[in-house]
Amino acid sequence: MYLVLLGPPGAGKGTQAAILARKQKLAHISTGDMLRDAVKDGSDLGLKARQYMDRGELVPDDVVVGITRERLQAPDARRGFVLDGFPRTAAQAEKLDEILVDLDMQLQMIVNLEVPERELIRRLTGRRVCPKCAKSYHLVFNPPRSLGICDECGNDLVQRDDDKESTVRQRLEVYHKQTEPLVQYYSESGLLFTIDGIGSVQQVNERLEDLLE
Ligand code: ADP
Ligand code: AMP
Repeated sequence: MYLVLLGPPGAGKGTQAAILARKQKLAHISTGDMLRDAVKDGSDLGLKARQYMDRGELVPDDVVVGITRERLQAPDARRGFVLDGFPRTAAQAEKLDEILVDLDMQLQMIVNLEVPERELIRRLTGRRVCPKCAKSYHLVFNPPRSLGICDECGNDLVQRDDDKESTVRQRLEVYHKQTEPLVQYYSESGLLFTIDGIGSVQQVNERLEDLLE
């Protein structure tokens, strides 16, 4: 299965992609996670990406397309993937189409997670993440078993720099300008499905799995 999860920051793409990837043995490809890894490594790519990420802006298309192209060529991606956070611009969506043609792969579905803005802000400002395994939690809506500690690897959870309220508002603006138009782009392909992202993590997961069936 080749799948794209679309939606604003905080909609639950990463949370749902991780569950799907585990249950359906798909490669979870998150450009945000790949970029944060590059920042952590201090690579040239990371240094470049960081300036944009800290401001809540999008990293230039050529950079993101390059890392995604490379990742899609790995054998686990060929067996099935869920893309989380890519594409985010019309140019990225067009490039993705080209890459998939080159790799002889075809998207089966694009799922748009819909969540109202007020809720997105509450989700993003309360998000805590594990810097080691990238698992995402929420202080209130999706807390770890023990306060401030990752269930999976026991690491201390942190708040992402770009989850501060001022950066969150900038990211939502960028979403409306640059990413939301992709809903129209994909609705023309006939592969777009929208689901309600409100409800518990499990409820949203059930909606997603019903749709995939
Ligand atoms: P995205 O990858 O779309 O930016 P995340 O999956 O990281 O979003 O989720 C954003 C925040 O909302 C996280 O703190 C996560 O724990 C929380 N969250 C995810 N799904 C739900 C849900 N269904 N209800 C409430 N909070 C959720
Ligand atoms: P995310 O983890 O998906 O919320 O992404 C965090 C940040 O990484 C974004 O605010 C962007 O700066 C950058 N980023 C992630 N994916 C992309 C993408 N597809 N295109 C451009 N920038 C991206």
